Amino acid sequence: MDFNDNSEEAAFRAEVKSWLAKNAPKFAQKGSNVRREDESAEDIAEAKEWQALKADSGYAFIQWPKEYGGRGSPMQAVIYAQEEAKYPLPRNYFIIGAFAGPTLMAYATEEQKARYIRPMLRGEEVWCQLFSEPGAGSDLAGIRTRAEKEGDTWVVNGQKVWTTVAYMSDWAILVTRHDTTLPKHMGLTYFFLDMKSPGVEVTRIRQISGGSDFCEVFLSDVRIPDSQRLGEIGDGWSVCLTTLMNERFMGGDASRPDAKELLGLAKRLKIDGKPAIENPAVRERIAEWYVQSVGAKFTKFRTLTALSRGQTPGPENSILKLVNASKLQDIGAYGMDLLGTAGILADVDGDEETAQFLMAYLAAPGARIAGGTDEILRNIIAERVLSLPSDIRVDKALPFNKLASGAK
Ligand SMILES: Cc1cc2nc3c(=O)[nH]c(=O)nc-3n(C[C@H](O)[C@H](O)[C@H](O)COP(=O)(O)OP(=O)(O)OC[C@H]3O[C@@H](n4cnc5c(N)ncnc54)[C@H](O)[C@@H]3O)c2cc1C
Repeated sequence: MDFNDNSEEAAFRAEVKSWLAKNAPKFAQKGSNVRREDESAEDIAEAKEWQALKADSGYAFIQWPKEYGGRGSPMQAVIYAQEEAKYPLPRNYFIIGAFAGPTLMAYATEEQKARYIRPMLRGEEVWCQLFSEPGAGSDLAGIRTRAEKEGDTWVVNGQKVWTTVAYMSDWAILVTRHDTTLPKHMGLTYFFLDMKSPGVEVTRIRQISGGSDFCEVFLSDVRIPDSQRLGEIGDGWSVCLTTLMNERFMGGDASRPDAKELLGLAKRLKIDGKPAIENPAVRERIAEWYVQSVGAKFTKFRTLTALSRGQTPGPENSILKLVNASKLQDIGAYGMDLLGTAGILADVDGDEETAQFLMAYLAAPGARIAGGTDEILRNIIAERVLSLPSDIRVDKALPFNKLASGAK
């Protein structure tokens, strides 16, 4: 394992630091280290402006190949993300593009790539991911949204759910079932879809945090031209894997508040007239999360070392999200406990430092589900890191319409 930047990486980090120092303050939340996500028109407009600036400077989707506006370097993408995380910048509404883009690069025509990829990179057009359904999430191959071919058009009916940013999206990547007589992984076909098409209805879901960036998407007789099919008919699972491989590369980084922010809080607060940081029970909890953070940091170094050597990170990457998401929830809860009644206030004017513990507590359950639930990550670690026997998958070879779920 290599803990240090090599000379090329150090030079890139210096370049990024200087670019961010010049450009980020204009977009960073004023008077606070914590960015509040408000999903307002102003926030979205500011986020689009920031994304376009990044794209024009070569800092958006850095892992993408150079010909599509990236730098072809996953390692540089990680370095950039580490440095950007130091600023409370607008929310990244464009994250689905990071993995929809490579899917188009692999399967779309040259004209389609020329039309869609640049606006996606610059955040001019927002993309969402229509994969999960009420009955299919971890088991994505269990989706039921039907696509039936009529001449050069496909007619799509079904329901998707938990679709992040669907309400503001221009385009979507979509996986459907075209044949129910085949085993579940084989009857799938993949498209991209204009979200303004007749028959697309989006409703927002109110979240416990007060936000509503999750959506339900109802598809009723939506017509998609065959030219918007990505991959062959029945090849949808392979196309999904291209998307998911690029999605898995993202995430797993520690979110704030971490042990450091809890330490800051414990220095500010008093318990029985003394700074909370002097209390042995408080010190013990902070130390526990600090140790977890350091463990996750060194696990991340394995990923970085693999990337730095031009290799693909292994399944041990799953450990990062598993540890960091539950740590975020625990730290949020403990910060709220320390704050007492003030801990349940999210609208403390100008005091995001306090509200961040409540916001983390409310957001963390989502982080423990999105991009692979805790249990699915444990299965990956068990099977692919520890070589334990694999999960039982009895329905893999059965025709979809013969599954016990009553699938038609
Ligand atoms: C913040 C967030 C953003 C999201 N954004 C999107 C999006 O933009 N587009 C999209 O398509 N989807 C999105 N999702 C949906 C997400 O992909 C699914 O919620 C996730 O895959 C889990 O699926 P599910 O909700 O159907 O739960 P299920 O898969 O039904 O799981 C229910 C429970 O069963 C457990 N479980 C399931 N299978 C196994 C197993 N084999 N072994 C052990 N335990 C198991 C799970 O761990 C979980 O506890 C998002 C979700 C979140 C939380």
